[in-house]
Amino acid sequence: MSRHFDAIIIGTGQAGPSLAARFATAGMAVAIIERHKFGGTCVNTGCIPTKTLVASAHAAHVARRGTEFGFVVSGDVRVDMKRVKARKDEIAGRSNRGVEEWLRGLKNCTVIQGHARFESSDSVVVNDEILEANKIFINVGGRATIPEFPGIHDVPFFTNSSMIDLDFLPEHLVIVGGSYIGLEFGQMYRRFGSDVTIVEMGPRLIGREDEDVSDAVRKIVELEGIRIRLNAKCISLAKRDSGIAVGMECDEGPPEVSGTHVLLAVGRTPNTHDLGLDLAGIATDEHGYIIVDDQLQTNVPGVWALGDCNGHGGFTHTSYNDYEIVADNLFNADHRRVSDRIQTYALFTDPPLGRCGMTDAEIRKSGRATLAAKHPMSRVGRAIEKGETQGFIKITVDAETKQILGAAILGTGGDEVVQVLLDVMYAKAPYTVVQRAMHIHPTVAEFLPTVLSKLEPFA
Ligand SMILES: Cc1cc2nc3c(=O)[nH]c(=O)nc-3n(C[C@H](O)[C@H](O)[C@H](O)COP(=O)(O)OP(=O)(O)OC[C@H]3O[C@@H](n4cnc5c(N)ncnc54)[C@H](O)[C@@H]3O)c2cc1C
Repeated sequence: MSRHFDAIIIGTGQAGPSLAARFATAGMAVAIIERHKFGGTCVNTGCIPTKTLVASAHAAHVARRGTEFGFVVSGDVRVDMKRVKARKDEIAGRSNRGVEEWLRGLKNCTVIQGHARFESSDSVVVNDEILEANKIFINVGGRATIPEFPGIHDVPFFTNSSMIDLDFLPEHLVIVGGSYIGLEFGQMYRRFGSDVTIVEMGPRLIGREDEDVSDAVRKIVELEGIRIRLNAKCISLAKRDSGIAVGMECDEGPPEVSGTHVLLAVGRTPNTHDLGLDLAGIATDEHGYIIVDDQLQTNVPGVWALGDCNGHGGFTHTSYNDYEIVADNLFNADHRRVSDRIQTYALFTDPPLGRCGMTDAEIRKSGRATLAAKHPMSRVGRAIEKGETQGFIKITVDAETKQILGAAILGTGGDEVVQVLLDVMYAKAPYTVVQRAMHIHPTVAEFLPTVLSKLEPFA
């Protein structure tokens, strides 16, 4: 027995549900399959829960700074982790239920719960039933990478998925991995009241960023009492009476950090190993990412891969943009391409880092004539008024075309303000458009013209 659909979508991450709705509203029969929680990583174990927890941590942080702002909190500010978790559960749960109810309410859309596996290039099996379609879309996302550290099988550890469900405060949390996820959890738990040590294999935190950004972020988190260990080679885990020891070989510092709990935040692995891709003949790269072309088609005609599993993004907005690219190509004869998009993302520490376009390192490699400007947040009125003066604004511009090449805004509102520059980049307009525009006072964005007035040849 098999059922035939116009389209099958595997996974309900950030691309699948919108695509299902697009097919369904076009009057086509679509099946969408989810093996775990509706909404995938972002909704259940990623963006929404972590940003909700970051908000609780921020509130505790501001409360501790009460005297600076002129109010008194009697006694210590202590965090009730059960209530913090309940708030997170409520907010993330609402989104999870929203995705499920939306999909189940769609006419022409069949929602199936179970693990999908390819049987051939145009069929998948779920719960012993075969589903067929000429169009199949893979949106299976990824999971936390568990490296084969010596001792990993002998000790308990958290990943992002288990960490967001904590309803108690670890006394000393050791985080292995000093990139985006590790830093967000690190600052959050420090603000909740844990001792936090971050152990990073590379020579600096968030190694994908420019050195000045990494250094500034390091200073910000160290100022809050987070201990950082860099260049940690040969990491191992071992049980101790007091908890867990993370062993390492470093240039400086003791060869072991003991904590009560360990969080692994060392990267993501695509969920492609158990999809039966070989039976469909779908090619992956050496890391398991599904190989796609500029319009997200795999090497097998009629099969597309969207979101984290294709290795072209790693963010909610890149996955959603994948949906837009596929839908516009299929339904609107609008031949959008992955290569048209401009890199952009944020690190949601406090203050956040908003990024768009090229890093300085990428610009140097490109060898093009560039102008650059940098301005400290300590000289931005709005930041001073808010008492949040850490960080800087940095913008680079092509010396010939005057188009913006990249920006890093580490500072209050940086995640929002950077998008002023991003939109001008999409418009392929010169930076002078931003410089001549009148902005709202007092905001961080109103300083963009000031920063741009300081452009100088890039060193
Ligand atoms: C801690 C953390 C914080 C993050 N914060 C941010 C942030 O602030 N901003 C941002 O842009 N991004 C953030 N991300 C990344 C973001 O969550 C992902 O990029 C985003 O969820 C896109 O995922 P996706 O659409 O590829 O699929 P996912 O959201 O991963 O969903 C895939 C779905 O497919 C299902 N599935 C897998 N295999 C099968 C199968 N064989 N059969 C049926 N179903 C299957 C899974 O159960 C899952 O529900 C964060 C990630 C983490 C881990």
